[in-house]
Amino acid sequence: MSFAPTRLRRRHFLTRAAITATITATATATAAVSGIAAIARAATPTPTPTPTGAKLKSLVPTLSKAAVGYIDIPHGGEVCGACIWFKPPSPGSTTSHCHLVAGPISAAGWCQAWMQRSAAA
Ligand code: SF4
Repeated sequence: MSFAPTRLRRRHFLTRAAITATITATATATAAVSGIAAIARAATPTPTPTPTGAKLKSLVPTLSKAAVGYIDIPHGGEVCGACIWFKPPSPGSTTSHCHLVAGPISAAGWCQAWMQRSAAA
């Protein structure tokens, strides 16, 4: 009596079943990952260009001097002239302005919105 052919067929069947299950699981996982990637792509907002120059300035609200506690004197070592919002006098003018605060300001003034201008700016 020999069981070899039956054992071989059974082993062959089990091996095929295991391979099929692995392939199915891999395909399902791949589809899931692909679906997640598609959802992530759909959810990613389209990048919008960063506004610069005049466009950026138009987006910044103009504040009153009172709203930001503006004073015409320095505050410690902080002065408008060293602030990123400072707008120096235009040629032919002696009046300084601010991109953030309404009205003329002093280069030696200060307000609560003061931010250090970088050396490169
Ligand atoms: S300190 Fe205030 S008022 Fe002066 S430039 Fe900066 S934001 Fe403008």
